[in-house]
Amino acid sequence: MDCIFCKIVDGTIPSKKVYEDDKMLAFYDIEPAAPVHIVMVPKEHIASADELNEENSAVVAHIFSKAGEIAKSVGLKGGYRIVNNCGPDAGQTVFHIHFHLMGGKPLGKMC
Ligand code: AMP
Ligand code: ZN
Repeated sequence: MDCIFCKIVDGTIPSKKVYEDDKMLAFYDIEPAAPVHIVMVPKEHIASADELNEENSAVVAHIFSKAGEIAKSVGLKGGYRIVNNCGPDAGQTVFHIHFHLMGGKPLGKMC
């Protein structure tokens, strides 16, 4: 499948990894929108939040359960924001579900 994040998961495309286990990978975003900007992805290809269902959504809880540990490991002390863009109006550009973990300064309001 021609998916950038599947290729990052399988190692075809390099990434600066922060955390990995059997279900997920977290790596630094190539175009950071905050002083610290990590992307957290499931290893399973799910195109977007719109594709989540009872069968495949447990990995989302798993990713959120690791977010605090990941934030701590990269030195985020003042909190962080987790963002998911779903579909064109949200500006989703990579159609493999992912959660942006951002921080390192006061991030201000959402929109
Ligand atoms: P979104 O716009 O929510 O779909 O987010 C996609 C994110 O993936 C953007 O913040 C990109 O900068 C990031 N991105 C795209 N390609 C790479 C890559 N090869 N390594 C790390 N981050 C990437
Ligand atoms: Zn994928």
